[in-house]
Amino acid sequence: MCKSIRQKMFAEMVDKSIFELAKEKAFDYADNALERNVFPASPAIDGLKQFEEPLPESSQDATKIIQQLHDYGSPASVSQIGGRYFGLVNGGVVPTALAARWLSDFWDQNTPLYLSSPIASKLEEVVEGWLRELLGLSQQVVAGFVSGSSMAIFCGLAAARYRIYQNNNWDVNKKGLTGAPQIRIIASRHAHAAVVKAISLLGFGIDNIEWVTTNKQGSIDSARIPPLDQNCILLLQDGNVNSGAFDDFENICKLANAAGAWVHIDGAFGLWAAGCEYLRYLTSGIDKAHSWSVDGHKTLNTPYDCGLVLCSDRDALVQALHTTGSYIVYGDNRDGMMYTPEMSRRARVVEFWAALKYLGKSGVNELVLGLHQRARQFAAELAEAGFEILNDVVFNQVLVSVGNVDETKDIVEHIQQSGECWVGSAQWFDRPVIRISVCSWATTETDISRSVSAFVAARYDRQ
Ligand SMILES: *Cc1c(COP(=O)(O)O)cnc(C)c1O
Repeated sequence: MCKSIRQKMFAEMVDKSIFELAKEKAFDYADNALERNVFPASPAIDGLKQFEEPLPESSQDATKIIQQLHDYGSPASVSQIGGRYFGLVNGGVVPTALAARWLSDFWDQNTPLYLSSPIASKLEEVVEGWLRELLGLSQQVVAGFVSGSSMAIFCGLAAARYRIYQNNNWDVNKKGLTGAPQIRIIASRHAHAAVVKAISLLGFGIDNIEWVTTNKQGSIDSARIPPLDQNCILLLQDGNVNSGAFDDFENICKLANAAGAWVHIDGAFGLWAAGCEYLRYLTSGIDKAHSWSVDGHKTLNTPYDCGLVLCSDRDALVQALHTTGSYIVYGDNRDGMMYTPEMSRRARVVEFWAALKYLGKSGVNELVLGLHQRARQFAAELAEAGFEILNDVVFNQVLVSVGNVDETKDIVEHIQQSGECWVGSAQWFDRPVIRISVCSWATTETDISRSVSAFVAARYDRQ
């Protein structure tokens, strides 16, 4: 007679060999991740066919499942923990934060309420305080721990929407949008796609956005911002996703504050400049905004997925996001779900806490400065090799021009196929560009030089 599935799982929990195996495979992965192709080579991609199988009729062997995942899954992953992935804005991972996650994975916490996880509640409170200090935000700022900036932007704008309607005696939670007063949305032409998505999700309508042009670096043109009033939400960015350019928060926020407009800052990766002495000037004035969105999984290098909404209007954020139910018992301690759209959530705060505690203020300073210095090096070496750099490298982003659309596509493909590093392409104003984001602590000076060689080789191969 076969064991019941319950007996089988119980034995696995007690015996733990399945976890030992996963650990062994993970270490094997880590030892190889630095030297292998950054993007999986074609045999690894072909190996993904191994997963095309019907849902099994019966329970499978645990060891074989982990083995399959390692044999065919690990090689088909992107080498994200190495130092030569420069696509999107993908952070590396602080080892201690990863280890803390392993431990907390065993806790398997659900974190809506203090009553469902006192430890998550406590760490959220602690990290919220640490971040206020690190980012120079006021004592009344509260934090919600969400999956990433997309969700954080959504939350910030939901709070703004609640507050502005409330000021107009309109309870949006009860009355909805039909017949509601008009809210004006002002955003730069270079606003991130996640901002546009949040605007559409919240029912503002993309066609209603009042677009503002940017300067050549991609910062919002302050002089072109239309007259603001109390029914406006102004979206600024702490790091243009292509060029890394920052908006002029100091002056624009003053203007917005005087008009009574709500300012949200999309600071997905750039908000962390506030934690770096040398780069802090870029964030000057951010404390005058009302809400901010930022990722842990980018510049701070926590594991995925870790994002944060910060809001100086606690009541608006809570009113916009919280819910009730007879079985939901809020208490005097922090209940995380008051600040997030989700109820059930993993304890992602553990990774934030571990990364911040491990790095400390000086470590954050060094991490952020290091990304900047490597980006500067990348730009300088590329320029020396005859490539045209289109942006001022103020943070961690570099934009390279290599010709028209076809030439750019070709060179990007050559670089990607070399396996030496990974970069993507984008459009910068009317020009196609190769886009570089230096976002991992693991990137060394040698990684940069090696990647520049891949650029040079790709250009040579094409000629
Ligand atoms: C990455 C990014 C986002 C979206 O963040 P996710 O964490 O991927 O949801 C929004 N804005 C900017 C500027 C970004 O770089």
